[in-house]
Amino acid sequence: MLKQKQYEFWFCVGSQDLYGEECLNHVAGHSQKIVEELNKSGILPYPVIWKPTLITNELIRKTFNEANLDDDCAGVITWMHTFSPAKSWILGLQEYRKPLLHLHTQFNEEIPYDSIDMDFMNENQSAHGDREYGHIVSRMRIERKVVVGHFADPIVIGKIASWMRTAVGIVESSHIRVMRIADNMRNVAVTEGDKVEAQIKFGWEIDAYPVNEITESVDAVSSSDVNALVDEYYDKYDILLEGRDPGEFRKHVAVQAQIELGFERFLEEKNYQAIVTHFGDLGGLKQLPGLAIQRLMEKGYGFGAEGDWKVAAMVRLMKVMTADLKNPKGTSMLEDYTYNLVKGKEGILQAHMLEVCPSIADGPVSIKCQPLSMGDREDPARLVFTSKEGTGVAVSLIDLGNRFRLIINDVNCKKVEKPMPKLPVATNFWTPEPDMYTGAEAWILAGGAHHTAFSYDLTADQMGDWANAMGIEAVYIDKDTKIRDLKRDLMLGEIFYR
Ligand code: MN
Repeated sequence: MLKQKQYEFWFCVGSQDLYGEECLNHVAGHSQKIVEELNKSGILPYPVIWKPTLITNELIRKTFNEANLDDDCAGVITWMHTFSPAKSWILGLQEYRKPLLHLHTQFNEEIPYDSIDMDFMNENQSAHGDREYGHIVSRMRIERKVVVGHFADPIVIGKIASWMRTAVGIVESSHIRVMRIADNMRNVAVTEGDKVEAQIKFGWEIDAYPVNEITESVDAVSSSDVNALVDEYYDKYDILLEGRDPGEFRKHVAVQAQIELGFERFLEEKNYQAIVTHFGDLGGLKQLPGLAIQRLMEKGYGFGAEGDWKVAAMVRLMKVMTADLKNPKGTSMLEDYTYNLVKGKEGILQAHMLEVCPSIADGPVSIKCQPLSMGDREDPARLVFTSKEGTGVAVSLIDLGNRFRLIINDVNCKKVEKPMPKLPVATNFWTPEPDMYTGAEAWILAGGAHHTAFSYDLTADQMGDWANAMGIEAVYIDKDTKIRDLKRDLMLGEIFYR
């Protein structure tokens, strides 16, 4: 797995000096206690760091600027324990550039009916202090997440956890570098896009390399390194010879092992976290990278086929957002391939020529070696498997000419009814929300591509929040989607996003 930075989040409580020293001591004590509880919960993927109470313009501005400069800080969580006049926050917020969460909570869970007096009211007034603060954030048109509820509620902490992953996606987006091996597939529209605008909006660096430069790196891999990796493959995966000579089969597999090592070294040396290939432009490579790319995706690299750099960057982004998750179900590039239109059993068979990430596999993973119907190289070895059941999210980032749009579809992954013994590629099978017909109609109306970045481990909200933070349109296709509403939303998006 690619190395991931140990991010942390700052917790900043707001107040003012109107209520005296005793009240401010309570505010500080309570916020420390909240931070302790959040960290103890075991729900948050990253630690929360307590910061001293913010009560003046100067301190607020200084703290937000320190957060900007701190490489480990991936975002700030704010909460107004008491009333905190929001003009004090303007300069700090104006200069703040990282993800912002407004935790609208309260220290006490229940109104203390027997003892409540005006001192208590003055000390515990986030119900209106947070509204004052929320107003200025809205007036300043600053994108942020608002989470409401008692801080010890696991649902509330779960929402903070979910936002933390989005925040890391926002911060890490500008560290994604995509290596393009060859150009996009000729004549294809949806894999194209404005790479300069992608760098301005998302921070992605997208560079092209001649295929033979990476081929040199592949050729430089020693045969002992290749053999060791092939042994690892033979240990880990089932070998399905399907009538092929075992020696010849192993040689085909070795080509992929050499590509995996050569590609990985080239990517590491040049500091790229995502890669695209194109089956029609393979230079000196003996096979289309199949098994090799599948393994790189499993290690955390982004990938897009046929030069699809937008998908490569999105897969990488979603791998980063799900990093170190306990029991992850997987994230991959996929392609809408073929339908089952039998009533009651509708769904889309997802696959690609070869390149599906084994992190989404369910059950055994096998190596097969089969001819490729396209291109002019030897039969590539590939990993074959079926995927897990359960809900997931499929996204497509498209370039509309003057702007980007992220289309986000909730999908339900299922087992196909029967095995497909003659199909030599890994697959997933899903029914899009709200149903096959509306889901596909909505996807097509929104301009969604046939390539997607898919994850079992992220939600539509997380992806939509990321898109909003990037300043682009998010179009949701889910259980509530109605075509009339969707068309109106797309129309409004045309007006709003320019
Ligand atoms: Mn494709």
